[in-house]
Amino acid sequence: MAELNTDVRYIKGVGEARAKALAKLGIHTLQDLVMAFPRAYEDRTVFKPISDLIVGETVCVRAAVASPPQLRRIRRGLDLVKLRAVDERGSLGITFFNQSYVRDALIPGESYVFYGRVGGLIGRPEMTNPVFEKEEAEGRVTGRITPIYRLTAGISQNMMARCVAEGLAACGDVLPDPLPRGVQEAYQLAQSRFSYENIHFPKDFKELELARRRLIFEEFFVLSCALDMFREKRSVKAGYALKKADLETFYAALPFRPTGAQRRAVAEAVADMESGRPMDRLLQGDVGSGKTLVAAACCWYAWRSGHQSAFMAPTEILVEQHYKTLSSLLSPFGMRVDRLTGGMTAKEKTAKRRAAAAGETDLLIGTHALITGDVAFSDLALVIADEQHRFGVQQRMALAEKADSPHVLVMSATPIPRTLALIVYGDMDVSVLDELPPGREKVDTFAVDEDMRPRIHAFMKKLIDEGRQVFVVCPAVEENEDWDAEIKNVKDYTENLRREFPAYRVALVHGKMKAKEKDAAMAAFVGGETDILVATTVIEVGVDVPNAALMVVENAERFGLSQLHQLRGRVGRGPYKSYCVLFNGGATETGRERLKAMCRTNDGFKIAEADLQLRGPGDFFGSRQSGLPEMHIANFATDMELLKSAQNAARDVLRADPELDGEENKRLREHVLRLLERSANSL
Ligand code: ADP
Ligand code: MG
Repeated sequence: MAELNTDVRYIKGVGEARAKALAKLGIHTLQDLVMAFPRAYEDRTVFKPISDLIVGETVCVRAAVASPPQLRRIRRGLDLVKLRAVDERGSLGITFFNQSYVRDALIPGESYVFYGRVGGLIGRPEMTNPVFEKEEAEGRVTGRITPIYRLTAGISQNMMARCVAEGLAACGDVLPDPLPRGVQEAYQLAQSRFSYENIHFPKDFKELELARRRLIFEEFFVLSCALDMFREKRSVKAGYALKKADLETFYAALPFRPTGAQRRAVAEAVADMESGRPMDRLLQGDVGSGKTLVAAACCWYAWRSGHQSAFMAPTEILVEQHYKTLSSLLSPFGMRVDRLTGGMTAKEKTAKRRAAAAGETDLLIGTHALITGDVAFSDLALVIADEQHRFGVQQRMALAEKADSPHVLVMSATPIPRTLALIVYGDMDVSVLDELPPGREKVDTFAVDEDMRPRIHAFMKKLIDEGRQVFVVCPAVEENEDWDAEIKNVKDYTENLRREFPAYRVALVHGKMKAKEKDAAMAAFVGGETDILVATTVIEVGVDVPNAALMVVENAERFGLSQLHQLRGRVGRGPYKSYCVLFNGGATETGRERLKAMCRTNDGFKIAEADLQLRGPGDFFGSRQSGLPEMHIANFATDMELLKSAQNAARDVLRADPELDGEENKRLREHVLRLLERSANSL
């Protein structure tokens, strides 16, 4: 018997070199080994007599080696072993490439099981590089459902399977088992040991399914407990209770009338902030729905009570933009609005930090450095995060250190499926901006093929001559061998445009540029100094250029619909009729369909639904984006039902034992703490 944290070198045959190879797969301990679940399975349970073999099928054959295997060296680096195997009524030709050892491993007259794909001609079956073992040993690599593992150089499937089997044997009694008995019984889940054994070496598909079900449930369950416990800690604390203030004073000073939806969202947030409990609210609103105004109102409200606010945006470009917008809205009241960006000199930064710490700044706008860096506030009561998917639980933890349970408002333009929202946000309150500011015209969208390019260029020219500006988005930054030549890249595209439109000012911006250069290029475009901006998706989130009236997306087939919708949201933000042109560089029918869906609707939530149906939530909302830890076996997209039951189970367990102090929850608690620790960077 061994402990789970025993080094993998414990396994016979695993020395320095193999341990190194395993480490590449993230396997350091026996626990890592038994948790290295197969990525797929091969059904090697079907046996056939040679005479029944059908070309193209993959099966097991019991046969005796009829003649001594012949080794032929074709040339350097290529040798063949050929042999013939027979059963009662048939004969099978077998060839091994570059496996010269089999010449001695296969003994004439002995019986073996061969598993492989049947090739050759009708009546003259052949197999190439079959898996084989002695007939009496059958059941190890043939005659069973075989796990297929992720591999790396120096580790073969057989090797991996053998290591796992040994690991299981050594740790069989101490395998991870976080599920409280009661939960296991209530949800009719398989035992831990059974599950680990059958996830690797299932007896049949039914047992594999039982094992999978248990392990997926377990993973979701531990995650749900971790998130719920974390949230519980947050919400029991008291928050700042803000004084009542008359919002009409604020609204009256605006350059426009707030929409009904904006008023509702502000009222909801304000009620939270007056309640004495920390606000924990998600503000969802399609691009252009006016989320910034809601944020401004909240900051104003905190300021009226004498508190500071922090506003975080995902990029420096957006920091600049929000700074401009928010200071124009809030400075007239006497609010001191400032910003802190990575591009500032050390001296400037120090000055800004000092001002925040001294309470001389009422609203500080910046990237995440605001809460992860060494910024101290004198009296921070409200934190707003724009574009929620980059703001995870981890950042909220960091926040708790900056301030004592501040109010938190998270803003997002990405509609999230309900179940995922539940896991990511738990019981976070949600406000929805379901109304666009008045006078907003629909962005006319066209999906076009290459033959339309001359007309589109003429159209660009016409718009620019009218004084408008144009965005072009390409998927790649520069030419890259990995991409096929059809993929447009920002650099070459810019060159070409400059040649074609010598009279116009064409600039570029992409993620490989220095932050300073990027900001300068963006600022020039915002300031109307450039006519056409060629960019990658760095401009996807939030940038506001009211004068831009055309968005051209190259290789639109390469983008998700929700992403295209975000891009399209960059235009139509001013008084001008705006357009979006999607160049279709792919030829598939589904690709065309997707782009057509974009032309039909401007409703972000409808588009998200279409996206979900076409791509599934996994792609739509990958775990990296969601701020959730990498899952081992569970899949947010396909295991939705289990996710729901695991969440229910977690809630029940925590209701009865909020700190998981009970004896029956001891192991669960360990797993939960470990998960929180392990995912400190992703949660
Ligand atoms: P998003 O929700 O995408 O962040 P913004 O807050 O950037 O949207 O607002 C988009 C544009 O709409 C901005 O130019 C803003 O000034 C304008 N806007 C916001 N609210 C209103 C309103 N009630 N009436 C008119 N224009 C508005
Ligand atoms: Mg915005």
